[in-house]
Amino acid sequence: MSFNLQEFQQRRATLLANMGEGIAIIPTAPEVIRNRDSHYPYRFDSYFYYLTGFKEPEALLVLVAGSTPKCILFCRDKDMEREIWDGFRYGAEAAKAEFGFDEAYSFNQLDEMLPKLLGNQAKLFYSLGADASWDARVTGWLNHVKAQARTGISAPDEIADVRKLVDEMRLFKSTYEIDVMRRSASIAAAAHNRAMQKVRAGKMEYEIEAEFLHEFYRKGAQAPAYTSIVAGGANACTLHYNANNCVLKDGDLLLIDAGCELDGYASDITRTFPVSGKFSGAQKEVYELVLAAQASAIAKVNVNSHWNAPHEAALEVLAQGFIDLKLCKGSLSGVIESGDYKQFYMHRTGHWLGLDVHDAGEYKDKAGNWRKLEAGMMLTVEPGCYIRPAENVPKALWNIGIRIEDDVLVTTADAEVLTKNAIKSVTDIESIMKKD
Ligand code: MG
Ligand code: MG
Repeated sequence: MSFNLQEFQQRRATLLANMGEGIAIIPTAPEVIRNRDSHYPYRFDSYFYYLTGFKEPEALLVLVAGSTPKCILFCRDKDMEREIWDGFRYGAEAAKAEFGFDEAYSFNQLDEMLPKLLGNQAKLFYSLGADASWDARVTGWLNHVKAQARTGISAPDEIADVRKLVDEMRLFKSTYEIDVMRRSASIAAAAHNRAMQKVRAGKMEYEIEAEFLHEFYRKGAQAPAYTSIVAGGANACTLHYNANNCVLKDGDLLLIDAGCELDGYASDITRTFPVSGKFSGAQKEVYELVLAAQASAIAKVNVNSHWNAPHEAALEVLAQGFIDLKLCKGSLSGVIESGDYKQFYMHRTGHWLGLDVHDAGEYKDKAGNWRKLEAGMMLTVEPGCYIRPAENVPKALWNIGIRIEDDVLVTTADAEVLTKNAIKSVTDIESIMKKD
């Protein structure tokens, strides 16, 4: 996908307008050493990337609001020696032109230029507390400005968290973002379908994880969006299981929670299916329950709902199902009020999705109420049921762990399920897994 300069310029203009006055400082993420001199694969900071589209490490964005707003990038210098070893760098001049900044300077000029830029600014927008080393550096610049008080230069007397302003912007996906997320979702969906076709009893969980990486990279995704969960049998009842090192057994279910990152945007899909290709009676019963809970939740993803409505809808279906399966006792309202259902469903039904898997954005409004769903919001819908062995549980249901997760866009009409190509009905799963 070609770089959409206008989109990023528009985001900076919106943030500048929302700031009103003052200066914003937004650094990107540091490179992180994995061991000795090997680094983890580099991932830019989501806020910085959202406002710049710039992917190199050692970069920082400054926005100066007011009557003549300015966007300034600090980035690494061109350096032929380093480029021979590590690859291309834009350098300030090319970055300014390519990414549409008003000014661009060397990252090495930060300590010289930031105190000047901070002088006489009423307000600083900065994510204090997010990174200790940047906090120390920003404090140093502020102290430098304060030391000039007798020359008439003043330091900002208010620091506001810039993330608050950007979070609200990130919550509403643009046409450009929705397009990238549709593609991220369809890559991940194809990977889940591929996994269903590749699974055989006797294979290892990591072999199936490898199928995901294969599908992600060959379709152009830059990384998994998070560590894939490939959980056979009882492992599915560990919510964040990611050892992925057990053998897949006939008769077990396999829960896979895996998504990719494409041009910065995450997909997040969970599918659960039988290793053998055929659900047992008990597995099918619980699976159909979770699927019905998900359908009921997705039906609530619309502009007439609030954030918690899909969760409430899923919970109602699940709790009734737990009663029917003799997992819970009592009335539906009793099971929900007492929280007895939490033995089998202990997480919520979704989260915002975007540049981060658990994306930015408030879940409640300023009055403390669940916020209304609005067109352009993107969320996951992921009910589940996790039945660990216990005395109060019929033995036939032990170790069944099921989650079904899709990525859903709120629109002015019905919700759009971006991950709809990942098959999930019992019939479709059993048919795709049929061995000749
Ligand atoms: Mg997930
Ligand atoms: Mg999720």
